[in-house]
Amino acid sequence: MTNDLTTILYLLSGVLFILAIRGLSSPDTARTGNYLGISGMAIAFIVTIVNLDQNNLINWLLIISGISIGGLIGTYLSKRVAMTDMPQMVAALNSMGGMSAVLVAWAAFLSPGSFGLLINGFINTSSIIQMLLGILVGAITFSGSVIAFLKLQGLMTGSPIILPFRHIINILIFITILGLSTSMILDETGSHTFLFLLVTILSLLLGLLLIIPIGGADMPVVISMLNSYSGFAAAIIGFTLGNMALVITGALVGSSGAILSYIMCAAMNRSFFSVIMGGFGDEATSTQSNENKPVKIGSSDDAAFILKNASSVIIIPGYGMAVARAQNALKEMSDKLKAMGIKVSFAIHPVAGRMPGHMNVLLAEADVPYEEIFELSEINSSFPQADVAFVIGANDVTNPAAKNDTQSPIYGMPILEVENAKTVLFVKRSLGIGYAGIDNELFYRDNTMMLLADAKKMVEDISISL
Ligand code: NDP
Repeated sequence: MTNDLTTILYLLSGVLFILAIRGLSSPDTARTGNYLGISGMAIAFIVTIVNLDQNNLINWLLIISGISIGGLIGTYLSKRVAMTDMPQMVAALNSMGGMSAVLVAWAAFLSPGSFGLLINGFINTSSIIQMLLGILVGAITFSGSVIAFLKLQGLMTGSPIILPFRHIINILIFITILGLSTSMILDETGSHTFLFLLVTILSLLLGLLLIIPIGGADMPVVISMLNSYSGFAAAIIGFTLGNMALVITGALVGSSGAILSYIMCAAMNRSFFSVIMGGFGDEATSTQSNENKPVKIGSSDDAAFILKNASSVIIIPGYGMAVARAQNALKEMSDKLKAMGIKVSFAIHPVAGRMPGHMNVLLAEADVPYEEIFELSEINSSFPQADVAFVIGANDVTNPAAKNDTQSPIYGMPILEVENAKTVLFVKRSLGIGYAGIDNELFYRDNTMMLLADAKKMVEDISISL
């Protein structure tokens, strides 16, 4: 394949990736977006393989084994993973992106001739810089993602682990990495395997130390940030390999991950800097006692009665709906209400659930029409006109402490103002806390009725009583 054709096909795959991201931005075009992304990846992959084959650089046994083993594991995991476990799946995948960058950098460092990186018998300086950057970003991504995975999977504590002088330690490690790298770059022979190994180990350590102080509530932002790092690591390695498709893809993943992290921080009213500095969720905010507060607890019959007499209902899904897999039962309930002439809308908070778009995906899966689904900014002004706010498995995203309590860890986060509806029906299993670990005073308000049960069971029972 000629260089020109390779470039054109890589560009085509880049355009397909951009269109894929565009498609994924809305539920009704997400499937098409996925197909475009798959086509882009197929083109990039085939072009790379054909070029390697032309240059006799291919070991077909390795390629086929890699595709088969990786493909089988990937298919098995993606079919098995629950929607609620998606963040740790993404963390695991990010770790592989990071490790790939490290391994490619090592391969290029140990065998620069096969990568065409030698000038006068030595690795050229720009390639050394790219490899060192690839190692730094890739290793931080790898070890950081492994810690994120362990925290989210509950294999280590999700609370922040705060080491004394952690910022100073991190800065010292970073300065040491810079010093070692500079000495490698300045020495034109460039082949100090020991220094390269030290940079790798210190970068791995830095990734670990950067992520352990970050608390569970901030972890999804961290995952998206690590996703962005894995993209940049790939882009850097793309320069070393002279592979434009990898540079484009890496830059797209890197920048879209960074934008997503920013959007999530804005939705939680957290600054990106405070997230990566860690420590959030450290406070023991969940120990507050509610034992003496009066609370109205209702049954499915009570809820059905209130719903039947409403003319407008807004449904607010949250993480608990995902855990209970209640989306289909909820759709059935909403269909019954609509058949009675009741207006039903769905309100989605940008960080409801455990990843952006979590609720949109589940509602789309249950065939809830897109025109019934509204973002926070679109629907908040409608709560005062709603007869019922039906909160199902959501908690933090409705918590007025975000507006009223300056001491609250979620203070400043925009919330769905469900308390403005005439009646608030709260479906959850207990009066317990949500992800941020704080009490929700809405449970004890006069216009709130708690429906304490598993979300799916409660919604099915309400449907029967309607
Ligand atoms: P929350 O985590 O605040 O609350 C979920 C509630 O669901 C819990 O209080 C729990 O109460 C209830 N629940 C759990 N299982 C069930 C079940 N089977 N049936 C019924 N109820 C159940 O969820 P929200 O969606 O309101 O908020 C999301 C949180 O995640 C926010 O704090 C947000 O900042 C955070 N987060 C989200 C991100 C995202 O991208 N989406 C990113 C970063 C953070 P009980 O145990 O009593 O049943």
